[in-house]
Amino acid sequence: GATIGILGGGQLGRMLSVAAARLGFKTCIFEPGSDCPASHVANYHFKADYTDETALRRFAASVDVITYEFENIPTSALDILEPLKPVRPGRRALKVSQDRLIEKAFLSDIGLATAPFAAVDDAEDMDEAIIEIGLPAILKTRRFGYDGKGQARLMTPADAERALADMAGQPAIYEGFIDFSHEVSVIAARNEAGDVACYDPGENVHVGGILRTTTVPARLSASQRTDAVLLAARILDALKYVGVMGVELFVTPGGLVVNEIAPRVHNSGHWTQAGCAIDQFEQHIRAITGWPLGDGTRYADVTMENLIGADMDRVPDLAKAPNTALHLYGKAEVKPGRKMGHVNRITRSAKT
Ligand code: ATP
Ligand code: MG
Ligand code: MG
Repeated sequence: GATIGILGGGQLGRMLSVAAARLGFKTCIFEPGSDCPASHVANYHFKADYTDETALRRFAASVDVITYEFENIPTSALDILEPLKPVRPGRRALKVSQDRLIEKAFLSDIGLATAPFAAVDDAEDMDEAIIEIGLPAILKTRRFGYDGKGQARLMTPADAERALADMAGQPAIYEGFIDFSHEVSVIAARNEAGDVACYDPGENVHVGGILRTTTVPARLSASQRTDAVLLAARILDALKYVGVMGVELFVTPGGLVVNEIAPRVHNSGHWTQAGCAIDQFEQHIRAITGWPLGDGTRYADVTMENLIGADMDRVPDLAKAPNTALHLYGKAEVKPGRKMGHVNRITRSAKT
């Protein structure tokens, strides 16, 4: 069978490796850390830095297709890998999702609603943004933010100085605050033939900037559900995307507003492991290896809950709970805010 190269060795890489193995593929991860979640299940591990050109070349030589589990792949590494083996999803998706400013500009270019935004590099940009976009607002670093890190809220103009200082000199984006009722996400897949398949949208609850739960079905009207799926398809088509993508949305009275996109399998898609015949991980492997996309029909109501830090103390009880599937990532050290695993609770299935 073919070998799939995965850049990154976290839990997403681990679950991609398991799905790949089920379809008869081998996996090879590229990850600088040694005791990482994916290293326990992948067939091969290139333990090297993204600046190590020799290691990158060897990695490319030993795989048939390259994918990734995080979007911050350095451009220099892509320059080396791309001429050697297909990288899926492609470069455009990475470029767009690595920088919140480019991402927002792309989304509004293809006609989708986003928060009003402006680039902020200094105090002068900030003053202009406050006047043009208004308050409240959120200032975010353009790059490398996740789990709400690198963000500052602004309620009044007096917050400007502190918010700018929080960016620590990094280029930032100013976003007008969206008054949403709730948050949902669409997990969508596209293959090289241009087929698109979307999972039913999930409803996401964040606590302290970190995803806490995803519940399906989400509270959406039939037309909102259709809108969500159509706009996700528009994004994937515009990028000629190959693989699975997570699209985060705000639900507002005026319609759906796109928050951000992730060019990979997504935490808010973990419920598919318990709700669908083909989960998001297998769907991604299928898309990047030229298989037909799998049937992602939802046949159960599910709540996915992340196990973060000390939530691990609940594992003995969760292991005994009915209709509950535990997924643990094998991380050696428990830390506050660290995603250690998740649990999928089936709250209603097609049969009951
Ligand atoms: P992730 O871990 O999902 O990658 P992130 O660090 O990239 O998160 P965002 O998704 O941009 O951050 O923002 C985190 C959360 O902050 C959102 O899910 C939403 O609850 C809130 N938020 C972000 N931007 C806005 C906005 N413009 N208006 C209102 N709320 C927002
Ligand atoms: Mg993000
Ligand atoms: Mg987000």
